Amino acid sequence: MPVPLHVLFVEDRPSDVDLLLFELRRSGYEVTWQRVDEEPDYREQLRPDLDVILTDYNLPQFDATTALQILHETGLDIPFIVVSASIPEEFAVEMMKQGAADYLLKDRLGRLGAAIDSALQKHQVREARRKAEEALRESEARHRAISELSSDYAYSLYISPDGSVVSEWITDAFMRITGFTLDEVSARGGWMSLVHPADRERLESRWQDLLAGCSTTAELRVATRSGGFRTIRDRARPVYDPATGRVHRIYGAAEDITQQRLLEEQLRHSQKMEAIGRLAGGVAHDFNNTLSVIRGYTEFALEDLPPDTPLREDLEEIRKAADRASSLTRQLLAFSRKQVLAPHDVSIRELIQGVERMTRRVIGEDIELETRFSPGLDTVFIDSGQMEQVLLNLVVNARDAMPGGGRLTISTGSVEPDELFIARHPEARPEPYVVVEVSDTGCGMTREVLQRVFEPFFTTKEAGKGTGLGLATVYGTIQQSGGFITVYSEPNLGTTFKLYLPCITSRPPETGSATGTSGAGHASETVLLVEDEAEVRKLTFRLLSRYGYRILEAASAEEALALARHHRNPIHLLLTDLVLPGMPSRELIEELRRMHPEARLLLTSGYPDEVLVGRGLIQPGEMLLQKPFTAQDLARKVRGALDRIPDPLR
Ligand code: ADP
Ligand code: MG
Repeated sequence: MPVPLHVLFVEDRPSDVDLLLFELRRSGYEVTWQRVDEEPDYREQLRPDLDVILTDYNLPQFDATTALQILHETGLDIPFIVVSASIPEEFAVEMMKQGAADYLLKDRLGRLGAAIDSALQKHQVREARRKAEEALRESEARHRAISELSSDYAYSLYISPDGSVVSEWITDAFMRITGFTLDEVSARGGWMSLVHPADRERLESRWQDLLAGCSTTAELRVATRSGGFRTIRDRARPVYDPATGRVHRIYGAAEDITQQRLLEEQLRHSQKMEAIGRLAGGVAHDFNNTLSVIRGYTEFALEDLPPDTPLREDLEEIRKAADRASSLTRQLLAFSRKQVLAPHDVSIRELIQGVERMTRRVIGEDIELETRFSPGLDTVFIDSGQMEQVLLNLVVNARDAMPGGGRLTISTGSVEPDELFIARHPEARPEPYVVVEVSDTGCGMTREVLQRVFEPFFTTKEAGKGTGLGLATVYGTIQQSGGFITVYSEPNLGTTFKLYLPCITSRPPETGSATGTSGAGHASETVLLVEDEAEVRKLTFRLLSRYGYRILEAASAEEALALARHHRNPIHLLLTDLVLPGMPSRELIEELRRMHPEARLLLTSGYPDEVLVGRGLIQPGEMLLQKPFTAQDLARKVRGALDRIPDPLR
């Protein structure tokens, strides 16, 4: 079957064309053709659908060399064969070098068919390769386009036989992640200069793995233009050169996992704090009870001693030591979010202004104090005494960080967390927060210190200077108040703490505060005392009986109810620990009110983790006595509870 062939003849003599046509047909081609003999016509006839160009070597107005050049300029790949009556050897060679497919002498046209066959075959091979390359380019382009859309980047490295590495391409996301352009990276000394120094060694051994043919994954920190680092996970795959058998390319893809790592870090941190908190809270609770006993008996002894015995001083020292110890346990309880808070509506601005004078005294004259209040949200629901303590702890730390003077700034603001904010601060809820910022220009902290600042007993200060409890209590108090805290610090650049306090709309019910007259005297009321800790019960009993109260003593709710059932006279006060073994204190209270509606209520607790109000252990208006208490605290609160007028049932 004849093969169709579309030919362009560049020939001035039509008879020669006839000859060629004859030869072609003889070789089995079914020819369609044009003939041109001038350059403009030739240019016009150069089309992609041509199968072959057959050209005379010398034309009156044109020549084969020019024709071939013009063909190259068009970018078309068409087999180009020179057919001439005479062609000098060196010109023929030159034409072949420039890309002619073949050359023939007119007196040997018998070879024409074969020459065309072979040219077409070569052309086909070329064409196939070109198509494959194009497909590869296209797929690479597609791949790049896709990876450019993601937050990850991909790259390709070429390793030349002499071992030098050329970056073939890298997607734009690289720039989005690092903020650097490739030119800037080379100006800084190459990609390696971006890698965190601590990660470079790892990278070196990884490179050896890649060259040895292993795919690898590595986690690295890379510098960004803004001066920080981002963590990326980089996966790379070596590609062998089939010709030489050596690794000649590395394809890689990297994703930015900074956010993921940050969240994991935060989770680990909060789990650690939780565990330490439970431990500290447990110890503090037991210790607290023991302290109450030490303090109580010291007070008895003091009262019973004549005024001027030398023993008095010793006992005073014991009392002071017990006070110091109980302030320590209070801080630990604060850290483990187990302190009793008495939150109420507080204007942050007024609170800060209230402690301003004290702040100035604490920081001394070398440190400048600036307070700034932004208009807008200002009221939070918080225990103001605890909040003052929080500020004071931060102020003292700031002072310690600026031994040579500096500037301390306390300012307020507000934030309504959006998605981005919550992504960075997982503890935040999408509700408005008042933000208190305490900022100093002091020595700042290293990363290692920063990671541990909130741990109880973590201090960098010399023995006797720091307890390591300041920030632990700050942390606990803010958490217990439904807020959270962040800290930014760089060595030598100062430190900024930000306290986020929720502006609560549906707030927990208020707990009662201490009111009423203080004082001992000759009370006559009956108190039902429920306390499972024998020592604390004994002490309370002794204290109350000294004031003249009659006391019914019970170690559990069941015991208390049994007593109450058989007691014919009024019970004026139920004084009970909030957390009792067995029956919940709530049930005890309800039950007792049925039997003795006259009874008022005073709750005690040193460990009111469930106090927190959401669980309904304390209800609005109820009074609470925090352990460890002094004789005075007890007397005042008991009196206060008994004398409360408005709500006789309580
Ligand atoms: P303490 O003050 O008793 O050491 P803290 O819990 O208050 O305990 O603080 C723990 C540690 O945190 C300090 O020892 C100090 O290293 C660091 N720190 C706290 N606040 C600052 C600050 N404003 N500037 C620099 N370092 C601070
Ligand atoms: Mg401190």
